[in-house]
Amino acid sequence: MVIIMLGAPGTGKGTVAGLLQERLGIKQVSTGDIFRKNIKEGTELGTLAEKYISKGNLVPDEVTIKIIEDRLNEPDLEKGVILDGFPRTVKQAEELDKILQLKGKKVDKVISLTTPDEEIIERIVNRRVCSNQDCKAVYNIVLNPPKKDGICDKCGAELIVRKDDTEETVRARLSNYFEQTAPLVDYYEKQGNLLTEVVSKSINKLGKDVAEEIVEILK
Ligand code: ADP
Ligand code: ZN
Repeated sequence: MVIIMLGAPGTGKGTVAGLLQERLGIKQVSTGDIFRKNIKEGTELGTLAEKYISKGNLVPDEVTIKIIEDRLNEPDLEKGVILDGFPRTVKQAEELDKILQLKGKKVDKVISLTTPDEEIIERIVNRRVCSNQDCKAVYNIVLNPPKKDGICDKCGAELIVRKDDTEETVRARLSNYFEQTAPLVDYYEKQGNLLTEVVSKSINKLGKDVAEEIVEILK
């Protein structure tokens, strides 16, 4: 099963994908996490990606598509994958369709998450992530705080603010999302596999509620 998580930054893609990974037993693959790991390790890819990410821009398609193509060839994804943050452009979506077709697979479900803009900014500003690359748990210091300030509940590592989670970068990321990624909603709507979910405290629906709903729908 191939599941895609679509959604502006801060809508909870990563949180929902992480919960679905646990519930469905298929792996979450986040292009953002792959880039951050490479930046931390100082690889060539990391140096290149950081130039774009620090400004809130997308990493070029050729680079990103190659990474996903290689990753999809690894045996641990044979059963399926939850793609979190890929595709983000129509070009990436078209290439993904081709890559999957060659494997006799296809995109099975696209989950599009939406959240009111003002809530997105608030959520990102309050976001803290686990510094342990193997854990990557996400917290919100207001809605979902860790038990102990600044410490990850799951692994005990330090919680940090993501470098690109400043208000200025968030605004650039949001505007890039609406320009380059939002057209994918139409793209997948036409393919007939789109599922839209609102994640918003105004209707009392957080990532975990949405993940439960999706698990029920996929049953
Ligand atoms: P968010 O959705 O909160 O912006 P991600 O972790 O998904 O966070 O992505 C962080 C950054 O990594 C993006 O702002 C972008 O610069 C880069 N990135 C991630 N996925 C892609 C992609 N599919 N194509 C191009 N750039 C990407
Ligand atoms: Zn952790």
